Amino acid sequence: MDPQALFEARARVLADLEARRAATAEAVSFLEDAISSRTWWAEQWPEGVTYVAGLVAQDVQDALFETTQRWPVCLTCGGPVHSLYIQPDLGGPDPVWVCEESGDVVAPLGGLA
Ligand SMILES: [Zn+2]
Repeated sequence: MDPQALFEARARVLADLEARRAATAEAVSFLEDAISSRTWWAEQWPEGVTYVAGLVAQDVQDALFETTQRWPVCLTCGGPVHSLYIQPDLGGPDPVWVCEESGDVVAPLGGLA
């Protein structure tokens, strides 16, 4: 298992939290929890490292949704507030954020404006 992949996953998800001013103490603690559980997971299944970044983003998104906030929301379309989600759903390879309404790719993971 390549520890660099976990560092990169953490950096990409943190960048997207910060891009949306969502990097609260709570969100960062969800991120740390997700990284530690996915580190364990990738140690059991080294090929899974391809999927880690997207899975960590999904873990943080779910944890935030269950508590305080919807992250990340789509800023591209008008209308009611709606979310972006990670594609491919498996978490990788090459995870991108996709609008749940339009289906358009908004940004690569780590590249939200
Ligand atoms: Zn949208």
